[in-house]
Amino acid sequence: EAVQAVLEQIRKTEPAVHAYVSYDEESALKRAEEVQKQIDDGTLTGPLAGVPMAVKDNICTKGYKTTCSSRILENFVPTYAAQAVENLIAAGVVIIGKTNMDEFAMGSTTETSAFGPTKNPWNQEHVPGGSSGGSAAAVAAGECFMALGSDTGGSIRQPASFCGITGMKPTYGTISRYGLIAYGSSLDQIGPMAKDVSDCAALLETVASYDKKDSTSIERDEYDFTSALVDDVKGMKIGIPKDYFGEGLDSEVREAVMNAARTLEEKGAVIEEFDLGLVDYAIPAYYVIAAAEASSNLSRFDGIKYGYRAKGAEGLHAMYKKTRSEGFGPEVKRRIMLGSFVLSSGYYDAYYLKALRTKALIKQEFDKAFASYDLILGPAAPTTAPKLGDSLSDPIKMYLGDIYTISANLAGLPGISVPCGKDSKGLPIGLQLLGDCFQEKKLIRAAYAFE
Ligand code: GLN
Repeated sequence: EAVQAVLEQIRKTEPAVHAYVSYDEESALKRAEEVQKQIDDGTLTGPLAGVPMAVKDNICTKGYKTTCSSRILENFVPTYAAQAVENLIAAGVVIIGKTNMDEFAMGSTTETSAFGPTKNPWNQEHVPGGSSGGSAAAVAAGECFMALGSDTGGSIRQPASFCGITGMKPTYGTISRYGLIAYGSSLDQIGPMAKDVSDCAALLETVASYDKKDSTSIERDEYDFTSALVDDVKGMKIGIPKDYFGEGLDSEVREAVMNAARTLEEKGAVIEEFDLGLVDYAIPAYYVIAAAEASSNLSRFDGIKYGYRAKGAEGLHAMYKKTRSEGFGPEVKRRIMLGSFVLSSGYYDAYYLKALRTKALIKQEFDKAFASYDLILGPAAPTTAPKLGDSLSDPIKMYLGDIYTISANLAGLPGISVPCGKDSKGLPIGLQLLGDCFQEKKLIRAAYAFE
C-alpha cells in the first residue's frame, strides 16, 4: 500500500517537480509483493521492511541505470550495487528509482544535471538545492518516504534545508563509499534524508556498516542510533559561532535559527556564542581539494571503460577528447580544469598543498571548539532556496553559499540539517547542528527536540 501510494503521488507531482532521473513502477510493485510475502510469513522484520525509498543517481544499483545526471553515464548499468544499497535491500526496502542531482554532485542547485533541473516542491520557481536536490524534493513531495543522498560539501544538508526535510551527513567512514561514484573521495559521504529525525536515525542505522571494500570505512563501536531519539537536551553545551552570523546571512534565516537556539535553551541546553577561527578559509580550501580529487577521479571516464563514447573521432586521443567534450557539462569541465591546474607541477605547493594545510588547521579549530561544546549550532545555508537560473550564471556566488556546510567535510565531522521555520515567501529554513567525530547520537538527540 505504501508503495502504491507513493507511485500515485509520483504520477501527480513528478511532471512538475522532476525529482527522479528514472523510476520503475513495475519492478517496485513486484518487489513490494515479494517483501509483503516475507513480512507475512515472518522471514522479514525490521522498521524499514516495505518502505518505498529513492536513491541518488550516483549510488550504484545493480542492473539498474546509474547516471550521475551526466551524458557520459547516460546508459551506464552497474554490474554491482553499492554496499549502502545492499544494506537497504537486506532490510526489505523497496527502491522506487534514482534521483536527479547536479552532474557528478558538482553544484548546489541540481541545475547542472544533464537531464534538466528539479524544482522545489514548495515553490516551483525555486531550486531544491543540491547536489542531492532530487532526493530532497522526492521526500518533500511525498514521492518516496526516505532517500539516500551524498554529501561532499553540504549536498545532503543544504537541499534538506531548502526543501524542509531532515538530512544528515555522518562522520566520514560511517557508511561505506563502495559503489558511490567518487567526486572528492576524502570528503564524500552517503547519508540519510527523510521527513524527520526519527526516520533519519532509522535509515542511518540500516545503511551504516563497516566494509572492507572501502579502505576508509571505520569499524564503529556501535551502530545503534535510534536509542538517541529522546526528548532531553538538559545540560547539553551548544556553541554558536559568531562568525556564522556575519555578512551575507539573510535576516529571516538568522531570526529562525536564533529562535531555534532559544527553543533548545528553554529545554535546558546551555547556549553560548564563541569565535570559530578560519571560517573564511573553508571555501577556498574546499574548492581546491574537491576539484583536485574530482579531476583525478573523473579521469576514468574516457570512452573506453564506461558509458558514452563519441563517434567519428580519428585515433585514441581524439576519441578521448571528443568523448569528454561531449559527455561532460560546463561545471564538471570547470572543476576538471581547476583540479588539474592546482595539482600541476609548479602550482601544487602553492594551491593543493596549502589547501591541505588549511584543512588540517580547520580540523584543529573544531577540536578546540568541541573541547568546550557538545555541538555547534548555526544556519545550514545563508539564504533560502534561490530562484531557478539565479545561481548558474555566477559560479563563485554559488560556491559562497556553501560557507556553513563544507567545513564539516574538510574535518570529517557529522552534521544534521533540520527544518526550523519558513521565510516570508513560504520557503523552508534549515538549522544545522555539527558534532565531533562519532557524536551522531548527540546530533540526533538535539535535533529530536524539534520533532
Ligand atoms: N556545492 C558543493 C560543490 O559543488 C557541494 C556539493 C556536494 O556536496 N556534492 O562541490
